[in-house]
Amino acid sequence: MLVIMVFIYLLFTNFTKNDFYRALHERARVAAQLYLEADEISEPALEKIKEEFLTSLPNEIIRVYDSTDELSFVKENNRNWSKKIINEVRAKKYISYQENDNQIVGISYDDNQGSFVILAAAKDVYGKERQNKLLEIMATLFIAQLLIQFLAGRWFAKNTLRPIQKVNEQVQKISATDLHLRLEGDKGKDELSILAANFNDLLSRLEHSFDLQKMFIANASHELKTPITNIIGEIEVAVSKERQAEDYEKTLQSVLVEADRLNDIIRNFLLLANAENDIAVQQTELVRFDELLWEIKEIFSRRPNVLLNIQLDELPEDETQLYIQTNKTLLTIAISNIIQNGLKFSDGKPVIGSLHFNENKITVRITDKGIGITAHALQNIFEPFYRSPEANSYQGHGMGLYISKKIIELLGGTISVQSEPNVGSEFNICFVQNTRF
Ligand code: ADP
Repeated sequence: MLVIMVFIYLLFTNFTKNDFYRALHERARVAAQLYLEADEISEPALEKIKEEFLTSLPNEIIRVYDSTDELSFVKENNRNWSKKIINEVRAKKYISYQENDNQIVGISYDDNQGSFVILAAAKDVYGKERQNKLLEIMATLFIAQLLIQFLAGRWFAKNTLRPIQKVNEQVQKISATDLHLRLEGDKGKDELSILAANFNDLLSRLEHSFDLQKMFIANASHELKTPITNIIGEIEVAVSKERQAEDYEKTLQSVLVEADRLNDIIRNFLLLANAENDIAVQQTELVRFDELLWEIKEIFSRRPNVLLNIQLDELPEDETQLYIQTNKTLLTIAISNIIQNGLKFSDGKPVIGSLHFNENKITVRITDKGIGITAHALQNIFEPFYRSPEANSYQGHGMGLYISKKIIELLGGTISVQSEPNVGSEFNICFVQNTRF
């Protein structure tokens, strides 16, 4: 706005100046006619010229010089022009320039009495006044618009930022112990509502994961406490009085069982810690999946009464489709946990491990004909320490599937399960080639 105003002011100043030069030129011309042509023109015309000439400009001085550069018609000598300027007018026929506050116009005029030079000077008082008025208006306008802009800017900024400030205040109230709190926000489609919705989603996920952690700690303490209480109880009973050697042996046997259980639980915790550690994902190698299944079978075959069948009748023609870059140790643990469950929950019936290929996907399928899983249990089996009521008569701590899922997801795969109670279960572990590595 300032630039535009300065531009307008300069244009206006220039226009007034030129306009005044034009008026001065006119005055010089009329003066020439009045003094020099008076003898040639008619009486009424001369009257008209005189009338025009009477309304002079402020501070006006008009001089007429004859061909000898002497002042004609006017005798006083208080305002004069130098010969240099008079000659310049004679040479150029027209000049205009400014001296202090006065504007000056000079014209040459050829008449039957000779060659004359007329110089007219005056002060553009009205023009100056108009310029000053314009400057005043513009300055007032500029200050007023600055003020309006400042106030309006503040008002708009405050109104625009208010929702953000509200969100900020709400976020400040949410701490780890208040994760149930949510940001209020209209369900609009503006960026702020989307941000609030996303933040609420994040809170939900955090709350869920905090709940899981709390549950995990509670369950873990409980799981650790049971064998330790049993051990302490067994030992207290054993040392309460003198006993036979077989009694001590029996006590030690049951302490050993409980210690084994403790060992199992702690091993699971370590596995979990390992599975949650991203470094594990970086230690990868090219794993051939059919060989992996044979190796796992080899491990299981060392145990008694294990019926694990590996079926590889769907192998692809292109051998490279059998490979995936992954962490072999972790993957072995994940698959073994699922096979272990299949064997455990099918009471001696065989468990089948097979491979399936679809485009760039490899699926490891573990099928059993065991007790199956109810629809309700299916929703929870991947939660830590979850055990279905049907599984109560079987040994376990509810950590196996949780760990397997963690590992598989960490390695970029997915796990899904279909099951029918008393018919059996089918676990599918799926990896896409070259997506993650
Ligand atoms: P655990 O086997 O130690 O109980 P998991 O995490 O391995 O713990 O399994 C969680 C629960 O899922 C089991 O307690 C059981 O109820 C159910 N489950 C898992 N695999 C099977 C299966 N193959 N057949 C039937 N139920 C199963």
